[in-house]
Amino acid sequence: MKVGCHLSSAGGYLAMAQTAESIGANVFQFFTRNPRGGAAKPIDRNDVAAFLDYAAEKGIGPILAHAPYTLNAAGAEPRVREFAEEVMIDDLKRLELTPGAMYNFHPGSHVGQGAEEGIRLISNHLQRVVRRVLGDLSSEHRSIGASEHLSTVVLLETMAGKGSECGRSFEEIRAIIDQTESAFRRSTFNPQPSTFSLGVCLDTCHIWDGGYDIVNDLDGVLEEFDRVVGLGRLKAIHLNDSMNVLGAHKDRHEKIGKGKIGLEAFRRIVNHPKLRDLPFYLETPCDLQGYKEEIALCKSLRGNS
Ligand code: FE
Ligand code: FE
Ligand code: ZN
Repeated sequence: MKVGCHLSSAGGYLAMAQTAESIGANVFQFFTRNPRGGAAKPIDRNDVAAFLDYAAEKGIGPILAHAPYTLNAAGAEPRVREFAEEVMIDDLKRLELTPGAMYNFHPGSHVGQGAEEGIRLISNHLQRVVRRVLGDLSSEHRSIGASEHLSTVVLLETMAGKGSECGRSFEEIRAIIDQTESAFRRSTFNPQPSTFSLGVCLDTCHIWDGGYDIVNDLDGVLEEFDRVVGLGRLKAIHLNDSMNVLGAHKDRHEKIGKGKIGLEAFRRIVNHPKLRDLPFYLETPCDLQGYKEEIALCKSLRGNS
């Protein structure tokens, strides 16, 4: 079972992998920089090299980088959108140093412009970001050609629909993917859709708060996801219980089994044939010891079915 949790990136990559190993995790998530934005620390190539060796030896990965949650690709002000672009370009370029990583981001909030406009802005954002990353990497390092593939899989996170969040339904996620990929297909420039992978990270707390009843009808929700988005797009699960009732559109994470989703639903989630091979990342309100216990709990749920 691939299971782990969100870890502090303060000590670097190797330290995160060692911490993961010490709490029984074989995957982990981290913020690429201060979650409120700001500059990222310079990459320490020795740390990256040591991490890659250690991760290969211990079987750790895929790692999931989480964009700062203050990024808003759908913001109304150009400078808000430009900041989102700069941060994501920088993050994705750095992540090419750890091949096979995934990069998760909150699609954005339309702040009153309407979901349709929000989705259009997010799609534009993705197009510009991917173009710049592939172009810059090919000219700066010659490590990747503009026609080659971006190694990092970019994930749209399913959102609870708090405020004006985009990505509150499977249909909105689908629309962002469609608009982005069809723009690339129409374009005579690189990248074509085949040069990067756009996937989805499903957050159990968010979709529950968003109104998808994963407690009473997990099969139905996954069938709906498959019909609207396609299960082939699903690359990661954020495993969180919720403090709120179904459809609350609030987004308050709770420890596994302590919230409104409940332990039996998580037993079905981690064992579901369509989910069980995906990596599970806990983002519950736990300290390291709490995560260690929760990871053991997830493994025991897996064992008991
Ligand atoms: Fe998130
Ligand atoms: Fe999440
Ligand atoms: Zn959340």
